Amino acid sequence: MSRTSSYTVDPARLDGVTQEPLFSAVAAEAALQGIAAFAIGGYVRDRLIGRPSKDIDLVVEGDGIAFAKAVAKRLNAGEVHVFKNFGTAMFMFDELQVEFVGARKESYSRDSRKPEVEPGTIKDDQERRDFTINALAISMNAGSLGALVDPFGGILDLDRGLLRTPLDPDITFSDDPLRMMRAVRFATQLGFVIDPPTFDAIKRNAKRLEIISAERIHTELNKIIATPRPSVGFILLRECGLLQEFFPEFVELSGAEEKHGIGHKDNFYHTLQVLDNVCEKSTDLWLRWGAILHDIAKPKTKRFEPGHGWTFHGHEDKGARMVPGIFRRLKLPLDDQMKFVQKLVALHLRPIALTKEEVTDSAVRRLLFDAGDDIDALMILCRADITSKNERKKDRYLRNYEVVIQKLKEVEEKDRVRNFQPPITGEDVMRAFGIPPCKLIGDIKTVIKDAILDGVIHNDRTEAWELMLETGRKLGAEPAPGMEDPLPTAQPI
Ligand code: ATP
Ligand code: MG
Repeated sequence: MSRTSSYTVDPARLDGVTQEPLFSAVAAEAALQGIAAFAIGGYVRDRLIGRPSKDIDLVVEGDGIAFAKAVAKRLNAGEVHVFKNFGTAMFMFDELQVEFVGARKESYSRDSRKPEVEPGTIKDDQERRDFTINALAISMNAGSLGALVDPFGGILDLDRGLLRTPLDPDITFSDDPLRMMRAVRFATQLGFVIDPPTFDAIKRNAKRLEIISAERIHTELNKIIATPRPSVGFILLRECGLLQEFFPEFVELSGAEEKHGIGHKDNFYHTLQVLDNVCEKSTDLWLRWGAILHDIAKPKTKRFEPGHGWTFHGHEDKGARMVPGIFRRLKLPLDDQMKFVQKLVALHLRPIALTKEEVTDSAVRRLLFDAGDDIDALMILCRADITSKNERKKDRYLRNYEVVIQKLKEVEEKDRVRNFQPPITGEDVMRAFGIPPCKLIGDIKTVIKDAILDGVIHNDRTEAWELMLETGRKLGAEPAPGMEDPLPTAQPI
């Protein structure tokens, strides 16, 4: 695997750092109190490669909370938030979140990622970090002011794009298995390579992920999904065995079976191609999840039909039904976001089915109605789903896709069904027939909705009212007196 990082390391990016207001205040306070202070971790890494940061971590060999309060006072910064349990304190400065903590040494027990913590030196603190590139520190202390403190060769790793643990990787990962997810996340975000001994240790420790909460796992996973090319991360996750631990359905997509000389595509790589394609068009995390899950039921619906070849009948419906279980297990949000993903999975085959010459306006209206405001997201997914390697086929599919887009546009302009609101409400039906809430009301409303979507009547209150009376009579209900016409107050929609 080659490195695809677009970052270059430039130590000159640290020039003048200790003259900046925050760091000069830290340095002055360190000198006054006679304790050592360091900027450390992600901020130092990101600054060296010219990547923006939102947070800065400072470590002091002493009481981090008291130190934070003193620095905040010097800077006239706002409120200091103290987290006693963690021994940390933070305040906002220049839109950056600045966090202070006392240097610590950690020891872990086997069944938890919560360590025993005791005060330590900067070296102890650097040793408990996950990767050499995340263990870099800048001294805020007289005598070494502004110097890089790099006991594990982090700057070299940053330069060559390598993720490596400072200590024995088996211990680092067994102590806190979340670090394995972080390895893949940084590899994907930064385009770095995971050092082979570190990668092998992930393979050996992948099962340890079971002690990590679903929330922490999905946070890292979503950071992978938010990158421009998440496929990189998913391929690594599968290769090192982590994916199997929290998302076995996705691993199931792997492989291309062959029977009687007929194969089907490998749906793992197909899905990743669709995902990367979607990422070129949209940063919406949930649309990206739609891509991840659009074919998730293919393994469960796969059949070989002699004379036909491979089929995956109903994979869109079964897939939509699998979404809640996957979201629940990963503790992803179960409300609107999940419904959106379900809808994308359920509808992902519909647009392309509309390419046939003889497609009726009614079919187009039904798709607009079912997708509603999510039609644009659905169309992004649908276009991304065209991954044929045969260029002629691909061109034909893309032309078909343009045809559907055109039809959707024409029908929407004409009939406005995208945000369809029924012109007759349940209240109207009850009043017209003088009946209490009952099944008949739903039946009449469905007849009206279908008639509008099928183009039998216009999306108009007067026509719908007439159809309501007619349908009611057919179903054995008599209109109440004076209900022959829509009420004068009623507004056509
Ligand atoms: P980002 O902010 O882009 O997510 P980061 O590296 O800054 O990346 P944070 O979660 O902000 O990550 O953590 C800050 C620093 O704390 C890291 O750079 C690393 O040194 C250390 N760190 C965070 N999580 C862990 C962990 N699970 N194990 C060891 N060190 C960690
Ligand atoms: Mg950070």
